[in-house]
Amino acid sequence: MNAKATLTMPRTELRGTTGDDSEASGLRSSARGNGTVESKAAVTNAFTIDVEDYYHVSALASAIPRDTWGERDSRVSASTDRLLAMLDEKRIKGTFFVLGWVADKIPQLVKRIAALGHEVACHGYSHELIYRQTPGVFAEETRRSKTLLEDLTGMPVIGYRAASFSITPRSRWALDTLIEQGFLYDSSIFPVRHDRYGMPGADRAPGYVHAPSGGRIAEFPMSTAAFGPVRVPVSGGGYFRLLPYWFTRNGLRSINERDGMPFTFYLHPWEIDVDQPRVDVGFVSRFRHYTNLSKCESRLRRLLADFNFTTMRNVLRTRGLLSS
Ligand SMILES: [Zn+2]
Repeated sequence: MNAKATLTMPRTELRGTTGDDSEASGLRSSARGNGTVESKAAVTNAFTIDVEDYYHVSALASAIPRDTWGERDSRVSASTDRLLAMLDEKRIKGTFFVLGWVADKIPQLVKRIAALGHEVACHGYSHELIYRQTPGVFAEETRRSKTLLEDLTGMPVIGYRAASFSITPRSRWALDTLIEQGFLYDSSIFPVRHDRYGMPGADRAPGYVHAPSGGRIAEFPMSTAAFGPVRVPVSGGGYFRLLPYWFTRNGLRSINERDGMPFTFYLHPWEIDVDQPRVDVGFVSRFRHYTNLSKCESRLRRLLADFNFTTMRNVLRTRGLLSS
């Protein structure tokens, strides 16, 4: 594959290089099908939210001791409600990977998410990186979170996403724990290189992965666009805020149209919370956490108009990777 060719943008794509809100109405026209703007790709993708507060974020952990979490003002409920309203407006259902710590403190939020017909899935309990936990502690906290979420929703919780995508080559054993505890899919493997996570060389497409014991579980890896041999993480979070929207859109389109695959998009409620307290951390973490918070919500509206979305469970079912 010629990397240069794959990076070439069709002319219509260049419209997105200016302000974030300017195109919103045009994109809505396209959704109505008036034929003036490019249409959505036929593939339906997984829309996901990792439900946690700004003080749970791994990048800020050095400045926010865990034992101060309880004293801080929780902002996750208000931001999640805004995301729920946005999804409702577009009649989109998504998957919410809820941190057990949040579910314990704000059970009503979990109930609201479920009552609106979204999928509630598990984001662990403590937001500790898996490769810093023992298998015993990981098993205990994962079970605690799954049970709590199931009690709150009255529904089985079958999906899991690790804090900071921390299922890496050295914590692959966690897949065995997930299988043992009845999870049917995982969405924690990021097939890139990164200082905190990543499994370079892992498959880009949803499929089954094998745990060290030999069992298997469906995996929806974090999505990357392939530009020749280079994998670019374009599917949400900091990448969505830091990269220009047109780049994200073209990367995601290439996954849908050229690769014929669904992608998973992910975001955190704090990424649309412009007024969150600023924490004094090093330059890299500050850059990753705070850049373009003010642009995120309008970008998200564009994304929801540009692509088709449903829950991760539905996408995996459609692809024959889940039977229930
Ligand atoms: Zn998280």
